[in-house]
Amino acid sequence: MTFKELGLKSEVLKSLTEMGFEAPTPIQLEAIPNLLASDSDLVGLAQTGTGKTAAFGLPLVNKVDGKSRTPQGLVVCPTRELCLQITKDLENYSKYLDMNIVAVYGGADIRRQVTQINKGVSIVVATPGRLVDLIKRKSISLADVKYVILDEADEMLNMGFKEDLDLILESTPKERNVWLFSATMPKEVERISKNYMHNPFEVSIGHKNQSNENIEHIYYAVKERDRYAALKRVIDFNPDIYGLIFCRTRMETASVADKLGKEGYSAEPLHGDLSQVQRDRVMDRFRKKDIQILVATDVAARGLDIDNITHVLNYNLPDDIENYTHRSGRTARAGKKGQSIVLINTRENYKIKTIEKQIRVTFEAGVLPKPEDICAIQLTKLIQGVIETEVKEKEIEKFMPQIMAEFEELSKEEIVKKFVSAEFNRFIDYYSKAGDLNASGRDSERGGEREDRGRRDRDRGYDEDRSKRRDRASGPESGKTRFFVSVGNRDGLNPGGLLRLICDNTGLQSGSIGKIDIMPAFSFFEADQSETDNILRKVNGSEYEGTTVNIEITKDKSGGSSDRGGRSGGFAGKREGGFGGGSPRREGGFGGQRREGGFGGGSRRDDAPRGLDSQGSSSFGGGRSRDGGSSSAPREGGFRGGSERSSSFGGERTSGSDRKGGFGKPFNKGKKSSF
Ligand code: AMP
Repeated sequence: MTFKELGLKSEVLKSLTEMGFEAPTPIQLEAIPNLLASDSDLVGLAQTGTGKTAAFGLPLVNKVDGKSRTPQGLVVCPTRELCLQITKDLENYSKYLDMNIVAVYGGADIRRQVTQINKGVSIVVATPGRLVDLIKRKSISLADVKYVILDEADEMLNMGFKEDLDLILESTPKERNVWLFSATMPKEVERISKNYMHNPFEVSIGHKNQSNENIEHIYYAVKERDRYAALKRVIDFNPDIYGLIFCRTRMETASVADKLGKEGYSAEPLHGDLSQVQRDRVMDRFRKKDIQILVATDVAARGLDIDNITHVLNYNLPDDIENYTHRSGRTARAGKKGQSIVLINTRENYKIKTIEKQIRVTFEAGVLPKPEDICAIQLTKLIQGVIETEVKEKEIEKFMPQIMAEFEELSKEEIVKKFVSAEFNRFIDYYSKAGDLNASGRDSERGGEREDRGRRDRDRGYDEDRSKRRDRASGPESGKTRFFVSVGNRDGLNPGGLLRLICDNTGLQSGSIGKIDIMPAFSFFEADQSETDNILRKVNGSEYEGTTVNIEITKDKSGGSSDRGGRSGGFAGKREGGFGGGSPRREGGFGGQRREGGFGGGSRRDDAPRGLDSQGSSSFGGGRSRDGGSSSAPREGGFRGGSERSSSFGGERTSGSDRKGGFGKPFNKGKKSSF
């Protein structure tokens, strides 16, 4: 079936042809004719990468009146990035329809947005907070809205926009249609559907979702202390990787990105501690493939809408299983293949089983590539780079007599060996000392036992924490003040995040902070009494992941009375500590060697001059050598090659298709689950 047969206007078809859209994706096939034929509500269960923006965007631009002064179409989405992306897509679809589309989102000048709205607008694309602001200021009229699209509804609810969405929907006419899109269907999303929609037409990508079936889910079980070294191995084995590494906390994100950067990988962090401008810059560079690897938190990566990502690397699994769906959905978009790789320690096997059950995917137990295999791949990459290097004949000519004289004594073979060794020695040095990081075969056979022990330990941790909290119910430690904080586990806060929030804002050392209890919606912590005023003054009104933090002295002594809150606090606390303490074994050696030897030049840091940057590219290694040092276009070429190579990743595996569990139900009906 073609787009023409779906019943779209000729102006829309014209822009689709220009955009290179040939055939509708499955969700477009289902949604577009139905939305065009009748005015009905719609629930679309779809992730990004399935073509859902066009599934609602094409009927929307087809149906709204381009001459209307007040919005007829209203798209609400969770983040500024997604808001801008959708606006751009709608503008592209409606290029020949003469239609005004305005993006309104937080963090930008509201007056400018009001001016744009006042000029007349057919479709508004908005983030919930800013839209509510405009509604309350009476700067926008939603009286003529005919279609409300809620995109990534589950994400918006996760981010705490429930009340905002209610207010927005109640501000639109009763007879408007709601088209809701969500990757998962938790109760809260069902509530919206029940309260605001009538007999919605349901579209589910289900097993037809090409992109999900194209994701290979692989996990590697390693010892906790080898987590970082294992990550490097995956990257080194995939020199053309264009990947996203997900970490659980900002601190972990910053730490992993920092280590990778120092070791010469083209990696940058993306987390909430960066300003919007810094985040935009990093995302832009990643989009342009100036950065090969982005290390991100779940929250910061929301709305990151990038095709061609070859690998999603779960450095640590998220607490919420739903987030795994979101993470892995970043790869294998638009019919491409991709891998979602999970690193687990030997006690986390149960997490893989939980995900498999919950989102119906099958994981493959991966075997980390052997050092010699990694060396072979890197060597090939290095040699390819050398072969592809453009020789600047004219410029080098004057140096040739000197070059030839210097090499006079050496045979061709010796010269080749020396040139390759100049780059490759350090790599060989690192990997020749590196052992097998896979948790041992014996361990794997005892997976069941390991899993049980993991659970037992976790439960014990939970009980211990509970009993500790019971002790604490007698009041804060002497010399300490107990504080209430208005953000909690649901806002993505964990003990590490709380420590950082307090220490960063006050300049205090973490030693001044005592016990921490993270609850679902709020938290408690204790700190030195002498710092009470300092903490109240400086932490109050600060921001955590976009949420304003309120803080008070509390007399509440039962900070841990809620089981759920207690559990998340205790468990997360243990993990955070574990990570901080466990510095990767070989990191120092590798980093030092590579940098000393001039590898620093290869790292694509912001401050690296362009020339140096492309020099670096000619060296081998995970982060640097994409383009073999040639000066311009081939950079992207290197990437394209990557997806092919990555599909053969892990030589032990045979064919991909028989391992896939299918994505019969990519979404999880019912309650949000966590480990
Ligand atoms: P989305 O799920 O809306 O984020 O779309 C994922 C990617 O697929 C975007 O880059 C779209 O431009 C692209 N895309 C969507 N529909 C089609 C189509 N029918 N043909 C080709 N590319 C498409």
